[in-house]
Parts: sequence; C-alpha cells; structure tokens
Amino acid sequence: MGLGTVWFVGAGPGDPDLVTVKGRDLIARAGAILFAGSLVNEAATRWAPPGCVIADSKDMTLEQMSAWLIANAARCDTVVRLQTGDPALYGTLIELVQPLDAAGAPVAVVPGVSSAMASAAAAVESFTLPEVTQTTIFTRVEGRTPMPDGEDLAALAAHRTTLCIFLSITLLHKVEAGLRQAGWPDDAPVLVVHKASWPGEERIVRGTLATIKQQCRDAGIVSQAMVIASPTLGARHWPELTRSRLYDPGFTHRFRKATT
Ligand code: SAH
Repeated sequence: MGLGTVWFVGAGPGDPDLVTVKGRDLIARAGAILFAGSLVNEAATRWAPPGCVIADSKDMTLEQMSAWLIANAARCDTVVRLQTGDPALYGTLIELVQPLDAAGAPVAVVPGVSSAMASAAAAVESFTLPEVTQTTIFTRVEGRTPMPDGEDLAALAAHRTTLCIFLSITLLHKVEAGLRQAGWPDDAPVLVVHKASWPGEERIVRGTLATIKQQCRDAGIVSQAMVIASPTLGARHWPELTRSRLYDPGFTHRFRKATT
C-alpha cells in the first residue's frame, strides 16, 4: 500500500476563521495533524475528527518531524502539517518536503493568509498605492539566520517601497539602522502589528522611524509582530490621493468603456 498524502496547510495568522475552507476540510478528515505549537493557535485543530492523532512540533527536530509525518502517512490517507500564515514564507516547507519525496509520500500545499496580509488588514492599510509604490518586499533583518549578499535592509529600503519585515521585532535597532542608512527620515511612518487577527489579542502600534522602538518597548511587544515600513502608511487620512486608474471614469479597459 502506498503512503497517504501529507498536506502542508497554511493555518493563517491566528484567527481560526482565517484558515481557508480547503484547509478546514482537510483538517476535518485528517488522520494525523502536526502543528507548529509556538505559533499556530491551537484552535486551528478544533475541526479535527475524533481519533485524529495530534502533535505539537515545537520540541521536535526536523528529522523527528519528517519521521512523524512519514510514520503517519503509512497509516492514514490524509496527514496535515499546519504551518503559521502561508507555508511559503519563513517556514520549513522545503526541508520537510525533501525527506517526504525521498520516502515516496505524496505532498500537497494549501496556501494560507500570511501575517503580512493580516497586519495590513488590522490597520486598514494598503501595501500599494498608485504613484506611491507598486512594490512590496517581504524580508527580515539578520538574526541567527544570515542574510544573503545584497539583501541587507539598507539595500532593500533604498527602493522606497513597502517593506514587510518578519522575525525582527527584537531587532528593531537593526531595522532602524537599515532604514536610516537608506535615507528614510526620522518621521517616516512605521507600523507594528502584534498578533494580527488573534481574537482579543491583536495590538497595533503606529509610530515613526524615530519613535517605534521605544513605543514597542513601552508596550512590551517582544514577539509575534510584523514591522511594516511604507510610504503608503496612513493614506486613509490623506486629503489627496491619486486614484487607481482601473476605476477612473476616463480609463477604458476590458470590462468597461470610458465615460469621460
Ligand atoms: N509563514 C508565516 C511567517 C512565519 S515567520 C506567515 O506567512 O505569516 C514568523 C514571523 O511571522 C513572526 O516573527 C512575525 O514577524 C510574523 N507573524 C506570525 N504571525 C503573526 C501575527 N499573527 N501577527 C503579526 N506577525 C506575525
């Protein structure tokens, strides 16, 4: 008999309602679920069927995790690995897929709502605005994982685009230094969202390059936070905005003829 499929399911940023319908259906028919205990809200496992084997991977090594997934794929059709946010960002997707490939276990991925998107939603911000920026960079600053050449924050910030900075809330001094080196001014807006989407726990801190570190320190925010620096922040309150051309009355496109 062949092995069952191992599904890498994006569990979303924290609110169980932000697991996709497809992810929820897979959880509901899973024979085994391995979840990332430190980050995924346990509530994500609330749809698991009776008898489902559920384990927390927080104390496991990568070898133990892949062995667990393979052992369970040997006895059930559907094995779910729940990953925080979207599995394609700062997860262990490829490290886990390689041993599964080697073992001959089929693998599939279900995308999830990334915490970057949940943070924008929490603060009612847009990463892109016409004629302000049309680009968003997902990055981090160097912690124990070294940054590849050419990807230090100062180099990326030089583009003046939206920056979603993961895994860096304890390294705000490096964020600040990188942005300053790229010429961002003291009053550049910076947003920090802690536990975006977590019911009752989400916190939003709005500051500037000069103030955000102290504000986060005062608020005691030391983990699970997204740092966003962007020329679009606060646009909700701008008196003048360049409108998206797609909805401009004078702009003809595939679905609508210009009226002016
Ligand atoms: N794959 C995940 C990211 C995992 S890395 C995703 O797509 O969101 C973990 C980092 O993600 C944390 O250090 C933090 O920067 C961010 N993060 C995860 N959940 C978060 C949340 N609910 N609110 C804000 N940031 C979060």
